[in-house]
Amino acid sequence: MTSLEITKKRIELHELCTLIEETFRREGCDDANSRAVAQTLLKAERDGATSHGVFRLPGYLASLRSGKVNGHAKPKIDVTAPSILRIDGDGGFAPLAHQLLLDPLERITRSQGIAMAAIQNTYHFSALWIELEMLAERGLVAFACTSYKPALPPAGGKKPLYGTNPIAFAWPRTNNPPLVFDQASSVVARGEVMLAARDGRQVAAGIGIDPDGLPTTEPEAILKGALLPYGGYKGASIALMVELLAGPLLGECLSIEAAKRDNNDGGPPRGGEFILAISPERTCGSSRYLDHAEVLFSAMLSESGVRLPGDSRRRKRTKIEESGVEIEDYLLSILHGKK
Ligand code: NDP
Repeated sequence: MTSLEITKKRIELHELCTLIEETFRREGCDDANSRAVAQTLLKAERDGATSHGVFRLPGYLASLRSGKVNGHAKPKIDVTAPSILRIDGDGGFAPLAHQLLLDPLERITRSQGIAMAAIQNTYHFSALWIELEMLAERGLVAFACTSYKPALPPAGGKKPLYGTNPIAFAWPRTNNPPLVFDQASSVVARGEVMLAARDGRQVAAGIGIDPDGLPTTEPEAILKGALLPYGGYKGASIALMVELLAGPLLGECLSIEAAKRDNNDGGPPRGGEFILAISPERTCGSSRYLDHAEVLFSAMLSESGVRLPGDSRRRKRTKIEESGVEIEDYLLSILHGKK
């Protein structure tokens, strides 16, 4: 496999934000949806999460053009029990639902101590840390997961059944940004394999298998075959849990059902998202949890070679906020309305 020549240009984040918003408006999205999706794509680019940034733009636009996703979605929130918010995303992209649920979810979590957001009828195409970081910045402990289309086999199997099913966890801190980890149930996210296929690179061994179930480092073969869960059967069980929490628990699709109803336009499938928020003051009775957690973080960081999850992402944020981000020419053409 030879590496493909892909040219890029550097662009300031504020300029990129305007271009993304304008692109979504041009494609028929209303202002609220354009702004919300633009913020999500921008945050991914700002933090160097390339596989969930502007790289996904063609997929987002394909889903608007095919009519699968509603660019005028008006998510509706119902409080179905004292600590449960059900959000109908109205067939839109997930970011607007995330923005609208922040205030009510915080309010209910503070009054009840714990609250769950059940997001239905939405299209999630990004990273989970984006919504969890916003909750932890409000002082809440949070957990989220979502499913996708089949990409991983169950333990012992070869055929994709579970999505790459990410889980994310966030913990608030006082003098530091929240600790957030966000990881797919696969060894790497499918977006990384798609990027390798686009760039003509091989991937590391142990990431996936071809359609015959044989190990391969060819990204195209993995995309036709299956990714592997991290940690063997243990990662497969995490993916299984996510199928249940983001599917049947929310009255939403399993990954296999999402694939059946999807029109394969290159955008995200319909699905649900499970978000749990906890008010730590209510569980521990004071703000002591903050200093207490720092004992653990300090012990971790006392060993050289150890870092906190999310630190690498935030280091990239600092750099990209200063120097801008490099975007491939073919994506800039789309952003300038030339494709
Ligand atoms: P990575 O394996 O790159 O990273 C997973 C987590 O581990 C990150 O929080 C990362 O922090 C942390 N981490 C990595 N290395 C270390 C280390 N040495 N020490 C401590 N922490 C570390 O991510 P994945 O490939 O698993 O997932 C990528 C993204 O894909 C996620 O954001 C996920 O939400 C998204 N995704 C979305 C899907 C969807 O349907 N919407 C489906 C599947 C995945 P850091 O960032 O600082 O490196």
